[in-house]
Amino acid sequence: MSSTQLDVVIIGGGIQGLLALNALVWKGYSCALVSDGDLGSGQTLHSHGYLNTGFGMFGPELPHASADVVQPYLEERGLELSHDWVMIPPPNMPLFEGLPTATLPSGFAAPPGLSAVGLPDRSVPKRRLVEIVSQSNADRILRGCATPRWTGTRVEAVSVRVPGSSDEVVLSTKAIVVAAGCGSKRLLQGLVGETPQIEQIKHRRVHMLCVRAPRGSLPTTSVVAMPLGLMLAAHDQPDNVTWYVTPMEMGGRSYDDIPVDAASDVDPELVARGCATLLTLFPRLPEVHGLQLGCYAGYRQDVGDLPGNRMCELVEGTENVIIALPSGLVGPWLNATRTCDIVGGLFDPSRSHAPLPGGGAGVRIGSVVEDRPDFVWRGWDEWLQQYPQLSVQTSRQK
Ligand SMILES: Cc1cc2nc3c(=O)[nH]c(=O)nc-3n(C[C@H](O)[C@H](O)[C@H](O)COP(=O)(O)OP(=O)(O)OC[C@H]3O[C@@H](n4cnc5c(N)ncnc54)[C@H](O)[C@@H]3O)c2cc1C
Repeated sequence: MSSTQLDVVIIGGGIQGLLALNALVWKGYSCALVSDGDLGSGQTLHSHGYLNTGFGMFGPELPHASADVVQPYLEERGLELSHDWVMIPPPNMPLFEGLPTATLPSGFAAPPGLSAVGLPDRSVPKRRLVEIVSQSNADRILRGCATPRWTGTRVEAVSVRVPGSSDEVVLSTKAIVVAAGCGSKRLLQGLVGETPQIEQIKHRRVHMLCVRAPRGSLPTTSVVAMPLGLMLAAHDQPDNVTWYVTPMEMGGRSYDDIPVDAASDVDPELVARGCATLLTLFPRLPEVHGLQLGCYAGYRQDVGDLPGNRMCELVEGTENVIIALPSGLVGPWLNATRTCDIVGGLFDPSRSHAPLPGGGAGVRIGSVVEDRPDFVWRGWDEWLQQYPQLSVQTSRQK
């Protein structure tokens, strides 16, 4: 067993933990980040073309934060942003000022009587994002499962169980940041029990239909079709265009006993329904040259009823436990700044840069679900065999 003294220990190697690590180290805090799996292997790489940075449909705040904070950060690091987003709003929805009229690319069919507007959104390739944000402080990352040592109101240390060995590393610390994604709620319940603050954390299941074809065979515009309840994020990749199609579920049922890597079983009925809706929006899908389809599901952790809310605060009943939960979008960047403010209110940085024993060893970046070896891609005919209910719809459309 070895022991090290630090200012802050961050639990969780997803986008939130990594951004918090960079921000705190930059301020002069001595930190360690503990990640129990490959970096990003939780929700971050278990969700489509992370990240949409600024949905204009939720009002002007997100696009402003995206333009002022997130986009400069990404552009400075050479990350290419795709920005061709349109929305089909529901009838009578009051639109935020300045959303321009847009044209849907050829092949798309807007629901009768409705038209499209442009959205000030951007999206970035998620694996590349994880790669870039983990580069500068890789030696501050420790691979293992973190367990806080709790004295009643304070965490004094974090034990780290190194995978595949009986070794335990103890990190003495002045504060911890819980950025453990789907593991955060369980971890906090273990420390302080159930509180109104913790009850607000909800895990919701999201289905993802992946559609892939060679470049030029599918449009590269992302479409949020609100009356159909479908979001289609299109990513132009070096060898193909991939669409990540999500049946939009706001609120709804939440789950408690879920895996920390966010993986969930797929409900075939929901996939078939999502695909049928996609066919309404893009009827010529079955004729696309080189078409492949696949699907997966994951748990998204929300704060309250809607995605996009953040929770970055001191946990009630503790002196030094900070929770940092984004529900995607611009949340992780804003939370990283807020985390520094909270830690700054607790103590000054030690400015110690002592090496972290074991830091960087065995640390790898995860793969996005659709690039993992066990992911199944199917051609259209094989897809129809899997989801026969779609044959009826395609024959009706002919
Ligand atoms: C299917 C799906 C679709 C989504 N769609 C979108 C979208 O369209 N737009 C958008 O902006 N957002 C979307 N999201 C949400 C977005 O992916 C997440 O908000 C974001 O990735 C969360 O990042 P995080 O760092 O908080 O958590 P995670 O990426 O989950 O990282 C937390 C990490 O902590 C690790 N961990 C947990 N417990 C411990 C422990 N005790 N010790 C060490 N490590 C631990 C976990 O293994 C995990 O790797 C979606 C999510 C899902 C699942």
